[in-house]
Parts: sequence; structure tokens; C-alpha cells
Amino acid sequence: MPFEKRDGYRLWVGGPVPKGADAITLGPMVMVRAGHEHSVHLLRHEQIHVRQWRRYGVVGFSARYAGSYVLWRTRLKGHHGAYLRIPMEIEAEWVARRSLATAVADVDFAGAVRRG
Ligand SMILES: [Zn+2]
Repeated sequence: MPFEKRDGYRLWVGGPVPKGADAITLGPMVMVRAGHEHSVHLLRHEQIHVRQWRRYGVVGFSARYAGSYVLWRTRLKGHHGAYLRIPMEIEAEWVARRSLATAVADVDFAGAVRRG
């Protein structure tokens, strides 16, 4: 089985990932390019997409995601510029960065990790 069951999602290392991307999430399935499975930031980002798939459903997520991308392309943004402006990408990146920043803040000045 290439799928590893994680808390709230399944991880498929080496699954089909689009060219130019490190990972893609389809519903509860997170597919990451081999070698990127240990990136805490990437997995956190993809977990937000899992949550978005649950929130909007397959049709709602796909329509919002693709609709936003197409809208920005018609506003003459390139592929990367349009991708960065998709609201679900903005949310995933924002929450991933915020949660990682919070993790750093949990380490006190002496470098000891506070537990509990
Ligand atoms: Zn993303």
C-alpha cells in the first residue's frame, strides 16, 4: 500500500503530482513528490487543502479553485501569478506559516521546548 494513513488524511509519497508542483491534494488524499514528505510546511499547507475540500465539497472546491485561476489568467496574470492569487492557496499558505510561527514561539529563550 503506497498510502500512509495520517491524522485526518492519507499520504501518498510518490503519487501523481503535476509538473512544477511538490504536492497536490485531492479530497483526503495528499500526494507528495518523493523527497518532500518530510517538509512540515508542505504537509501543513496540504492539510489546509484537505480541510477546504471538506468545507466546499468536490464540486464547490473545484469550481472555486479553477474559477479563481481562470479569472486571474484573464486578468493577464501568468500561471504562477494566478496560482498565488487563488483564495484557497492564500489561506493554505497563511495558515501553514502561522502555525509554524506559533511552533517556533513555543520554544523559550533558553531553547527548551515547553511541553503540555
Ligand atoms: Zn496549495
